[in-house]
Amino acid sequence: MAPDRLDRPIPRAQRQRTEPSGSVRDLPGVGPARAAALERLGVREPRDLLRLLPLRVEVAEPVVDVADAIRVRAALVRVAGQIERTSLARFGRRSIFRLRLADATGAIEARFHNQPWLQRQLVVGAHVELSGSLSGSPPGFASPRIGTAERPLAEAGTVTPLHPSVAGLSSEFVGKLCRHVALELADSEPEPVPAEELLRLDVPALPRALRDLHAPADERAFESARRRLALELCLELQTRIALRRARVEQGAARICAAPAERRAALRELFPFAFTAAQARVAREIERDLARARPMRRLLQGDVGSGKTAMGAWAALLAAGAGGQVVFLAPTELLAEQHHLGLRELFERAGVRTGYLSGSLTARARRGVLADLASGALPVVFGTHAAFSRDVRYARLALAVVDEQHRFGVAQRGELFDKGVDVHVLLMSATPIPRTLALAWYGDLDTSVLDQKPPGRGPVTTRWVRGARDEVENLLRERVQGGARLYWVVPRIGAGEDEASAADVPAGARGERETVASRRVESAEARYARLLESPLAAHGIELVHGRMPASERAARLARFRSGAVRTLVATTVIEVGVDVPEATLIVIEGAERLGLAQLHQLRGRVGRGPEASHCLLFGADSARRRFQTLERTSDGFEIAEEDLRQRGMGDLGGVRQAGANAEGFEEWGHDLALFHAAQRLISDHPAVRAHYALRARPDHVP
Ligand code: ADP
Ligand code: MG
Repeated sequence: MAPDRLDRPIPRAQRQRTEPSGSVRDLPGVGPARAAALERLGVREPRDLLRLLPLRVEVAEPVVDVADAIRVRAALVRVAGQIERTSLARFGRRSIFRLRLADATGAIEARFHNQPWLQRQLVVGAHVELSGSLSGSPPGFASPRIGTAERPLAEAGTVTPLHPSVAGLSSEFVGKLCRHVALELADSEPEPVPAEELLRLDVPALPRALRDLHAPADERAFESARRRLALELCLELQTRIALRRARVEQGAARICAAPAERRAALRELFPFAFTAAQARVAREIERDLARARPMRRLLQGDVGSGKTAMGAWAALLAAGAGGQVVFLAPTELLAEQHHLGLRELFERAGVRTGYLSGSLTARARRGVLADLASGALPVVFGTHAAFSRDVRYARLALAVVDEQHRFGVAQRGELFDKGVDVHVLLMSATPIPRTLALAWYGDLDTSVLDQKPPGRGPVTTRWVRGARDEVENLLRERVQGGARLYWVVPRIGAGEDEASAADVPAGARGERETVASRRVESAEARYARLLESPLAAHGIELVHGRMPASERAARLARFRSGAVRTLVATTVIEVGVDVPEATLIVIEGAERLGLAQLHQLRGRVGRGPEASHCLLFGADSARRRFQTLERTSDGFEIAEEDLRQRGMGDLGGVRQAGANAEGFEEWGHDLALFHAAQRLISDHPAVRAHYALRARPDHVP
């Protein structure tokens, strides 16, 4: 790798002050290509580098004897000695450079791939240091770091922060830029938190923290700096929550109170009696709706706990009070299903319902829009499009948001922004661990449905390794006997290099598209193969996100009625699809899915009185996840486990909050910092004002 320009001291003439909000192109060593790469890291101006947080530090190892290095085989070893022998082998454009290094105690080999120029730099007889991990037998280094007399490795005990990297920018280069900028700019960063508070919390002031983060003297300095930056994230978050709460306090939503007899009559319309948990939640919703202060309630309940009925209950009360209701779902499939499933209930209550989706004809859409604007239509179901700019409501009183965690951060923010004077009921089947709930939803009241409706059969989960024939026989027998089977195909036959859909960052539309179309191809391939199998005798349908909504609904209806007994699907059925007769689910390529998603999919069965089975086909890499699912079906336990296995980064859109907060997982668990942030914001108007300026309410999670 060619040495980058920052390795050399910057000549005095070139040394100019870095402008905080200038161009990154003014930084040493940054040309157009690196500027573009920096942009991918979210860095547009030099100042942004200050908050490009290193994930951890590396402490330089002391030099050990070669004999000891070979014996101990530590994760990271460093040796020093003389080069005894070198060789370079070329294979077309590829090459391997090898050297043998010896000290008084022994000798060891090192290999370097595709760095032929090393041959000229590392010559026999030269004294060098090598640092890296050992592998193979006899143990050798693979592409270790090299220290020479001109470019020595860091002195033992030196700490080096490890910065994020992207294609075209090494972590080391990013680190150097950050250090450069931190030394020049950190001192001009304001510290809004009073000194005595910092002392109490035992964290350094922000300028010092930013310097120590990028150029720490030792590990302790780095850790303290991290805590100050974690506090920064907490302060930003708590400010947004406080702003949101303040706006809600000033909001005035429609008062939707119904006398006891009316409520009793409405309860009669449901085809079942509420469970005790539902009755409790229903009362909480009634109390919220009877006030002018807009409801902000998060309803958590495991899959199948009966959340839909709670959304319907809120909607009936709001419509009964003359308000309009929008019932949102993250997918058209689910929105459709809610509409079909609840239409009758609302009709019995004398409430008209409509459905707004992207796939309506222009004329039908205009009709619904006109009825919403005039107030003629009291209840509308739809995806978030039903809440977009061009949809006007005459008297919107309530928004019910099902599977709220599936909506993007921005969409949720939009909802809160536009709905200041609207009651909001958020529903989620992915329980939010307490720490996260505090972090993200500190301004929401929460309800929990901790009980399932009676008469549910047990669900047995099994991770199937090998012996697929046996399983296929079992499935055939059951389906012959009348059972209904979901066969889920997230994607098959794809290489390791392809990110799963969940990993695709927002904005990477093209990639997302590719992933989606591969899923469809995979599902189609599985469908074709199952058509050749004995399962075909009882009918097989295929659904995925790429077919017209009406076609999808028709196929789902055939599965629901039992006209076909096997439904091959992409993960489009993950949320909300409710067919109580289904007792079997196969999830292929299950290693591609996260714990929460697998739990959701499994929730498609076990909705009737019969015993159900969930069969996971997946690679060993996801063993831990599969074992968790085999062990428990408690959604809260699974959510905690998910948090442990994945860290905070993926949950709740943390990444959108800080520039790169993944390395700061622990901060979420540091409740002390959250409480400190809450207190600082309420006790110090200057702190509040500072962070309020930075908070963009439209991007509130
Ligand atoms: P989720 O909480 O996953 O959204 P649903 O609202 O889809 O669950 O409910 C799952 C199933 O349980 C539905 O078929 C629904 O009709 C049924 N259900 C809900 N509440 C009750 C109840 N109190 N008694 C019997 N069945 C119920
Ligand atoms: Mg649901």
